[in-house]
Amino acid sequence: MPDVVPQEVAAGVFFLTLPLPMKPSHVHVTLARTRSGWVQFDSGMYTNESWGALQEQWKQVGCRPEELRVLLVTHHHPDHFGASGPIAEETGASVYLHPAELHAAQHYQRREHSPEALAFFRRHGIPFERLGPVPPVGVFWAQFYRPLASSSPLEEGQRFDFADRVVEVIATPGHTPGHCVFFLPQERILVVGDHVLPKITPHIGRFPSGPENPLRDYLDSLRRIQDLPVDLVLPAHGRPFSDLKRRVAQIISHHEYRLREMLAAVHGQARTAYEVACLAWGFDERAPLQLQFPATFEALAHLEYLRDQGKVTCEDTDGQVRYRSVEP
Ligand SMILES: [Zn+2]
Ligand SMILES: [Zn+2]
Repeated sequence: MPDVVPQEVAAGVFFLTLPLPMKPSHVHVTLARTRSGWVQFDSGMYTNESWGALQEQWKQVGCRPEELRVLLVTHHHPDHFGASGPIAEETGASVYLHPAELHAAQHYQRREHSPEALAFFRRHGIPFERLGPVPPVGVFWAQFYRPLASSSPLEEGQRFDFADRVVEVIATPGHTPGHCVFFLPQERILVVGDHVLPKITPHIGRFPSGPENPLRDYLDSLRRIQDLPVDLVLPAHGRPFSDLKRRVAQIISHHEYRLREMLAAVHGQARTAYEVACLAWGFDERAPLQLQFPATFEALAHLEYLRDQGKVTCEDTDGQVRYRSVEP
């Protein structure tokens, strides 16, 4: 861990770096001092290294555990919500998360594939039987995931008044169904979780039990925040940055490029989402499963977006869904 020193990005607002046991190798959480105690944004993952790094950095900024009053969580992924249980236990802080995220968190605790998930994989062309053992998501993640079983709900437009600091909640569904970002209007700071990252684009996938058109939700959520009066954006992965509008425009054009590419892939030839993902990401059945599954879900998000726009149609043959461009 090269950077374990909290960075004070504004008076009393600290950007912390916590280690992750996989790529990306770190996640950032933010701590803000207020006259009514400390507020933390996101929890980090639950590993010994991360827990140790968090406690060390609490100490460095002068936050005693019992002074942490509130934990605001952007979304349910293990690197953001995974240590929420131990944090609540250690500090007594109130934990806030969007209800759709609390529901989605159950996915990471599943020890076997649900029948719906298996049917979904087959319908979209994933050659499940030929891929060898595919561990259910909860088997891998359980060791790093200690989420709080219940939390207080977050909702669009909610406002927290912490004596000398205000935090506004903006719902930004897309990366996950109930993702939220946190706006500190006085400091002109936006804590964005995984919504807008400076170097990589967040995963946008269509999942078995998720929303039907997550890419449309995501692009709408990007447009909703692009004009906020913000001087500093604090992302969960990568360094703080200032030009929100420019980064939003780059991410939108990335998805427009992917949409054109996938539309071309189903031009004159009906293909499953898995086949489109193989073409778009250039892999085959031998590739790591951590690539094949997310790429298929991401291709599906783009294909469903194109279908909603009337640019592709769907054919259901032999229990498999194939997409085809409407243009001859
Ligand atoms: Zn995430
Ligand atoms: Zn993340």
